[in-house]
Amino acid sequence: MSSYVFPPVPVPSAPVRGSDARYAVSRIFCVGRNYADHAREMGADPTREPPFYFTKPATALTPSGATVAYPPQTQNYHYEMELVLAIGAPVFKVTPDAARAAIWGYATGLDMTRRDLQAAAKAAGKPWDTAKGFDQSAILGEIARVSELGLLEKGVITLSVNGVEKQRGDLADMIWSQAEIVSNLSQLYHLQPGDLIYTGTPAGVGAVVPGDVLHGHIEGLGDIHLTIGPAE
Ligand code: MN
Repeated sequence: MSSYVFPPVPVPSAPVRGSDARYAVSRIFCVGRNYADHAREMGADPTREPPFYFTKPATALTPSGATVAYPPQTQNYHYEMELVLAIGAPVFKVTPDAARAAIWGYATGLDMTRRDLQAAAKAAGKPWDTAKGFDQSAILGEIARVSELGLLEKGVITLSVNGVEKQRGDLADMIWSQAEIVSNLSQLYHLQPGDLIYTGTPAGVGAVVPGDVLHGHIEGLGDIHLTIGPAE
């Protein structure tokens, strides 16, 4: 048995609804611009170009209900309310039908974003890592199993800040469907259990400040909560 010079970081994981067992997370993939109205608000053309991805480290995973510090190096810290897919079978280069069968669970998620760093990265043609993959940037609710919930391909998705609704969309309005996303991503990666996919956000993204309380909801799935604490 190996020893380590420093103790390993605990395995990031999420609670599973109706179970004492947890879902161990290894990778977090995120889809960019998957709702036309959000693509437009970001100044992009919402025509159906192939999906694109960015990632967050699994260590960025933060449970619903947390209070997170307002992050450093931003003056424009945004929420993005999203449906998250949890993969439950190994898939590589699969069709959408085979990809759909690999979706094991769903969760509510918040893709927290340093929008000013993202805008600067876009303008300079640089990577998005510091804008997207920072500490406590992947907020996640409990995972509900598809075997109990059924497929969740339509339903209202909303986000409110301090009780005021800011985002409203419908899962049916995704440019790329869940099955298409998993199929497309499986052309690039060997997907496996432990992989989460944040599927994009509807229009209405905006900034939050210390003291704000966020509440997201996906019809048929559940809620997510986040409180923004003081800057570190
Ligand atoms: Mn997003």
